[in-house]
Amino acid sequence: MAVFPGVFDPVTRGHLDIIRRGAALFDRLVVAVAENPDKRSLFPADERVAMMREAVADLDAVEVQAYEGLTVEFVGRCGAAVILRGLRQHSDFEYEYQLALTNRTISGIETVFVMADEKVAYVSSHLVREVARLGGDVSALVPPNAVQALKAKLGA
Ligand code: ADP
Repeated sequence: MAVFPGVFDPVTRGHLDIIRRGAALFDRLVVAVAENPDKRSLFPADERVAMMREAVADLDAVEVQAYEGLTVEFVGRCGAAVILRGLRQHSDFEYEYQLALTNRTISGIETVFVMADEKVAYVSSHLVREVARLGGDVSALVPPNAVQALKAKLGA
């Protein structure tokens, strides 16, 4: 069993690719949506959770939960020993390296990294929000329910 934590503001096709790969590697995968109170997100946590639940509804081994506070504490409460993270390009490495070692030092929990399919490995929630804010078409970058949610949120 593993936990895939993130902000998912909004869920992208990159996240979904990592989730599918994680679901094939682990018997159970909890997608953990960070409440993230200090960082202002476009979608509040309950909407990010609902959007993610809909996007992974076809995957039996995957469940979605919101969490607050330390990721490793949530992982421990779930009874999992592994954090799953995705790696995109080189620029992700430095931050992920620090995060994985910090988490392991404070809790003993290991992080497993998976590479997304190269067709979606460049996708980021940040750029999706920017494109959507400016009225661009994000349907190749996020699942259909996130396209609708972005339209509703941004009034586009
Ligand atoms: P965080 O803000 O915690 O990094 P994100 O929702 O941005 O949360 O990302 C969650 C995880 O998904 C991270 O491990 C990130 O590297 C990974 N990820 C995001 N987009 C992609 C992508 N297109 N391909 C591979 N991994 C990705």
